[in-house]
Amino acid sequence: MKIYLDKDINKPKVKEDIHKIVSSGGLVVFPTETVYGIGADATNPNAVKKIFVAKGRPSDNPLIVHLADQKDLLTVVKEIPKHAYPLMEKYWPGPLTLVFQKTDLIPKEVSGGLDTVGIRIPSNLVAQEVIRSAGVPICAPSANVSGKPSSTLFEHVKSDFDGKVDLMIDGGKVTIGLESTVLDVTTPIPVLLRPGAITKEMIENTLGVGIIDATETKINDIPRSPGMKYAHYAPTGNVSLIEGRKEDVISYIIENMKSKDIKEVGVIAPSEYLTDIDCMYKVDLGPIEDLNEVATNIFLALRQMDTLNIKYIYIPALPKEGLGQAIMNRLLKAAGNQVIHV
Ligand code: AMP
Ligand code: MG
Repeated sequence: MKIYLDKDINKPKVKEDIHKIVSSGGLVVFPTETVYGIGADATNPNAVKKIFVAKGRPSDNPLIVHLADQKDLLTVVKEIPKHAYPLMEKYWPGPLTLVFQKTDLIPKEVSGGLDTVGIRIPSNLVAQEVIRSAGVPICAPSANVSGKPSSTLFEHVKSDFDGKVDLMIDGGKVTIGLESTVLDVTTPIPVLLRPGAITKEMIENTLGVGIIDATETKINDIPRSPGMKYAHYAPTGNVSLIEGRKEDVISYIIENMKSKDIKEVGVIAPSEYLTDIDCMYKVDLGPIEDLNEVATNIFLALRQMDTLNIKYIYIPALPKEGLGQAIMNRLLKAAGNQVIHV
């Protein structure tokens, strides 16, 4: 397995290696602005299958196809619905995945048997260069073992995939920290399937109309997006997500911790909550006013809990507006969709 640094991405040897590995059906781990991805040639079913094996991912959970340039879009999608244009113009390249009708170039292994495919053009220049060097569309889910938090640091992908892929690129900490927004544009009214850094409000403002929000679909309902039915992002410990006034949430955590072994307790919270809580393992998400900063630390914090073998994890619920919707979507999954109201 080869490991390269992001700063070396323009070296001919690195590009050549990426090209050779992807052309021969290998796997490449690379940074994007959202989370790290584990990529393969999206047109090669055998290469695609290797991703599912490496991740332990259910085969009906489709992969997002990444392009470096919008000019290649019509090779992978049949048609571009009118309402997709303003979104592509405004948010591509960037953390927005749009779901279109797929062409035959994209095999069913990528789409989980669906006729549609999710497409994204990452803004991360290393990710773009990986795709250009490969010379084919790259399907890349988040680079984490299925069910575990997505990777936002190189250490995370190293611990999940060392020796199991052909090449890894170390891009340090990612800038956004949450997976892309997924929006289905094949329907007359677009449907939000996964909230992300491009928020529902941003999409509605760009389109000038309301969209359908399917992100609250419960586990037992029929999911609009296959990924919705899987309990993602779960650390091994039990996650308590607590909603209420700050003082009440803090009191609940302090009271609840008392009956536990302090070495098995972890608190993940915005800075404002932590000064009043006395415990061994605290992860500071950053100030609550800075949700961008909080977002970059969520998966890192959840993974840290596993590293420390924490059994009881306490997290205050955050406001659901704007980026908060995407953050709470991930936290709810980590907490098995349960919220404790205090
Ligand atoms: P990941 O690659 O791990 O970020 O997960 C991709 C997410 O996008 C999953 O939740 C998928 O269910 C969703 N997705 C990808 N392609 C489609 C599609 N064609 N239709 C609906 N959802 C999709
Ligand atoms: Mg994922």
